Amino acid sequence: MPELAEVFYFAKQWDVGQGQLIADVALHEKSRVFRGCDVAALQSGLIGQKLRAFRTHGKQMLFEFSNGHWLGLHLGMTGDLKSRPQPYTPEKHDHLVLNTKKLALVFTDPRMFGRVQYFCGKALPEPWLKLPPQPMDEGFTLPRVQSILQRHPKTPLKALLLDQRYFPGVGNWMADEVMWQMRLLPTTPAGELEAKQTSALRKTLKKVCEVALKTIGMDWSDPPESWLFLHRWDKNKSCPRCGVGLVKEDLRGRTACWCPACQR
Ligand SMILES: [Zn+2]
Repeated sequence: MPELAEVFYFAKQWDVGQGQLIADVALHEKSRVFRGCDVAALQSGLIGQKLRAFRTHGKQMLFEFSNGHWLGLHLGMTGDLKSRPQPYTPEKHDHLVLNTKKLALVFTDPRMFGRVQYFCGKALPEPWLKLPPQPMDEGFTLPRVQSILQRHPKTPLKALLLDQRYFPGVGNWMADEVMWQMRLLPTTPAGELEAKQTSALRKTLKKVCEVALKTIGMDWSDPPESWLFLHRWDKNKSCPRCGVGLVKEDLRGRTACWCPACQR
């Protein structure tokens, strides 16, 4: 599932269409990705508008069009954005295609856990006004992190890091990375962190998000080799810090990867 940096990278794929007039919108109106969305309004709203800008927040994307039209996208498990030159023939899983004279801006999603939303209005859409701060945002303060941990003292920290209400954009590999960099077992109860560790958690989350955005988010390049990231996918995976074999096990329905030697 795409995490914060991957989401930013995908959103950027439509950026080549900035300033271009949407001449036509092709979509699969019965597709599950349009649940709760007024498809007719989306179609008539976007045709004739120009793509102005995009922003992402956690795992969500928002595209701004001229005259107060907005398109919200969530990639779900298998969603993907791409741009293709015209003439473009939509493929089976292309549920939404915005056609300009030169380009096709394509949203494709084989498993359809993704979601499309349409908003109309001059101001930022309502749901975007009340999003929780991302780990690299100013509002992601130490008191905020402390109160999250205190609210869920028994939850394994790794599992809590995946909760999008608190850590928007953090997904499986990022949560494992944070636990590994902090040398804590993924099962560590959130309430057991000492004050120093809570402060380190905030800083580590911020750093992992920022570096991921600068690498994966920018050009799909890899985060530093010294991180767990590159090694967790290896066949004979071993810890880049101590060389001991990494463990992969299920934790609350997600695969956690950690080093049995340096995480305690
Ligand atoms: Zn190790």
